[in-house]
Amino acid sequence: MSDRTVSQGMQAAVLTQQGGREAISVREMPIPEPGLGEVRLRVAACALNWLDVAVRRGGGFGRAALPLIMGSDFAGRVETVGDGVTDWQAGDEVVVFPQLFCGRCEWCRNGYPTICPEGRIHGESVNGGLSEFAVVSERNLVPKPASLSFVEAASLPIVLMTAWHMLITVANVRPGESLLIPGAGGGVASMGIQVGRMLGATVFTTTSSAEKAEQARELGATAVFNYREQDWVAETLAATDGRGVDVVQDLVGGKTWADSLRCLARNGRMVVVGSHSGASFELDIRQIYHKQLRILGANGGTYDEFSRALQLVGAGRLRAVVDTVLPLAQIREGHRLLEEHAHFGKVVIAVDESLL
Ligand SMILES: [Zn+2]
Repeated sequence: MSDRTVSQGMQAAVLTQQGGREAISVREMPIPEPGLGEVRLRVAACALNWLDVAVRRGGGFGRAALPLIMGSDFAGRVETVGDGVTDWQAGDEVVVFPQLFCGRCEWCRNGYPTICPEGRIHGESVNGGLSEFAVVSERNLVPKPASLSFVEAASLPIVLMTAWHMLITVANVRPGESLLIPGAGGGVASMGIQVGRMLGATVFTTTSSAEKAEQARELGATAVFNYREQDWVAETLAATDGRGVDVVQDLVGGKTWADSLRCLARNGRMVVVGSHSGASFELDIRQIYHKQLRILGANGGTYDEFSRALQLVGAGRLRAVVDTVLPLAQIREGHRLLEEHAHFGKVVIAVDESLL
């Protein structure tokens, strides 16, 4: 057991009510005790995702049990292990796979845990990692590759497994295909560009500035269109000799869906997750059947997908894209960067700078 006791408390970013950025406060919370099969981590770093904003605002994410410790993507060092834990010990450096599945339902048993009706995520419906200590199941731990810093490791889980699940498992992108990813600046997009290139696809993307376009090219994008200055649908069609692309990875939602569909080649497929620009739009369904298009939903990723993808990051085949690192006290500023789309890649909170 630790020599720290519950009464000492820990600093955590806590959501006490759903609403604006002021709904999050950094305050003292009790240090949690690991139960059977659980470990307690000293959290080093925790990355932000659009999920954090969605959980804070409420709406579709109504399951948060408040007060909630926020933060879904985190990495740290095992501090204490609970009863029954044999594979991990104090001092192990780990990244947390943030999703929790029931393991018993039809979908879990048949290899589709990401659509488990009982699925939960740390930082959404169970406490997350924006705190000095966090308790997680030993089954959610993945060894941190030694070549990655805690900040890099924490930046990866959701964006890496989401991009992998979308492009490899669901859309099955193949060598020689063309892939369009609207909005290069988001975390999943910056990983999607890399995964697409790794698979041998030609990758097109869109951004709002020359600086972001350069960053997208560095990650492997073949062509980048400025959506403020160019008609990116026309540019995409021109770049493919009028044919359109084989796959669109749409992470934006209602604002881009119609244009994304217009960019697809016949028999093309659009793989989707996320709706931060809106959850609905008007669709002319004739374009779906005339061109025999397929719209594929994707939701999160599996432990195995994340573990395999993380090894490739550790080996340098893919890389973490970290935009900004902020202290825990600036959690609201982190949310502002996400909401104003001021970032390229990940915003990471340094929870314990002594571990970095
Ligand atoms: Zn299940």
